[in-house]
Amino acid sequence: MSPRQIRLHENRNLKIKWDNGSESIIALKHLRDQCPCEYCKEDNKPRQFTEGMYSILNVKIKGCFAAQISWKDGHNKGLYTWDYLKSLSEPQSEKPDNKF
Ligand SMILES: [Zn+2]
Repeated sequence: MSPRQIRLHENRNLKIKWDNGSESIIALKHLRDQCPCEYCKEDNKPRQFTEGMYSILNVKIKGCFAAQISWKDGHNKGLYTWDYLKSLSEPQSEKPDNKF
């Protein structure tokens, strides 16, 4: 499955329309907290909040398997594969957060 459309929803969530017609909504905070890059994975300490870290600057499609997300704090190392995005959109206890 691959996305037909990826867009920001109310600046808090990422909304993905898949080519099978289903939709995923992922809170930006969750998306950033689960950044799959080496740097974020290594860091087990509570993360410091930086200005813009939960806002998306742009989303670049990488080949046909993943999206590279650039955050407004300058972080852009995370490659989110379609499977990973799917798993992040699974129901979670953490509610979408309006604060950021
Ligand atoms: Zn990262």
